[in-house]
Amino acid sequence: MLKKILYATDLSEKSLAIINMLPDFKCLGVEEVVVLRVINLTRVLGVAKGIDVDAYIKAIEEESLPKLAEIGEEISKIGYSVKVIPPPAGDPVGEIVRFAKEEKVDMILMGSRGRSTIKAILLGSTAEGVVRRANLPVMVCKNKVSKPFSRILYAYDFTAENVGRYVKFIAKSCNSKVIVAHVLEKGEIIEEDRLDQIEMEFENIDVKIVIGEGNPPKEIVKMAEVENANSIFVGRGKRGILGSTADHVIRYSKVPVFVA
Ligand code: AMP
Repeated sequence: MLKKILYATDLSEKSLAIINMLPDFKCLGVEEVVVLRVINLTRVLGVAKGIDVDAYIKAIEEESLPKLAEIGEEISKIGYSVKVIPPPAGDPVGEIVRFAKEEKVDMILMGSRGRSTIKAILLGSTAEGVVRRANLPVMVCKNKVSKPFSRILYAYDFTAENVGRYVKFIAKSCNSKVIVAHVLEKGEIIEEDRLDQIEMEFENIDVKIVIGEGNPPKEIVKMAEVENANSIFVGRGKRGILGSTADHVIRYSKVPVFVA
């Protein structure tokens, strides 16, 4: 289910810290890691007239290649097969999504600076863009955590979502404790049957159900903190003008967020 992953890195310290988490992905059955750095042209094209784009690409390429080779070596030492993509130039979101498709990966792994500037809120970040445009699971890791799959909080809105399949698969493969979290919307009540149903659905998985109330994304992040969860799993959902629950969870969570 998750044999091949694409690791997108801008070579920043934060996104390189993700490499230290890769040993924890062994239990998912990951075998191959594709490494991708995009030479970001959105920065130069909008800004400067008269900039020599070819020279810019060449300079970034020269700077990236030895670093990427080093990363490849490090990842192969962990025990994965590695493919380092020669850095393409373009828009990071578009290129990450394109290579994920071309390489037929099962998941994208990436960082996020979690900026909260007005611009980021309006336009979204690279991570949000990839989550929005890729139709495969994306795991966004803002900070390095140890054992991301040991205690996972699954934000469940009681509609059958793709992400539930991953939660169950990962919980079984990595022996995770699953905290099923539901945030009640105004006027919503929860029936006893529902809880039994969840218990049944998660048969043979160590599961705890927690119910919150309030603004769903804020509550989800808060519940994850209270429950000491090491990652949050959330469905992609529909995205309105103000973004989706997933967008907000990515923005505010300190622990990795898996979106499917
Ligand atoms: P954000 O802070 O949400 O814009 O996302 C930053 C993350 O997006 C980085 O940790 C990378 O995983 C990914 N990313 C951003 N720019 C690039 C790039 N030029 N090449 C590859 N990945 C990138």
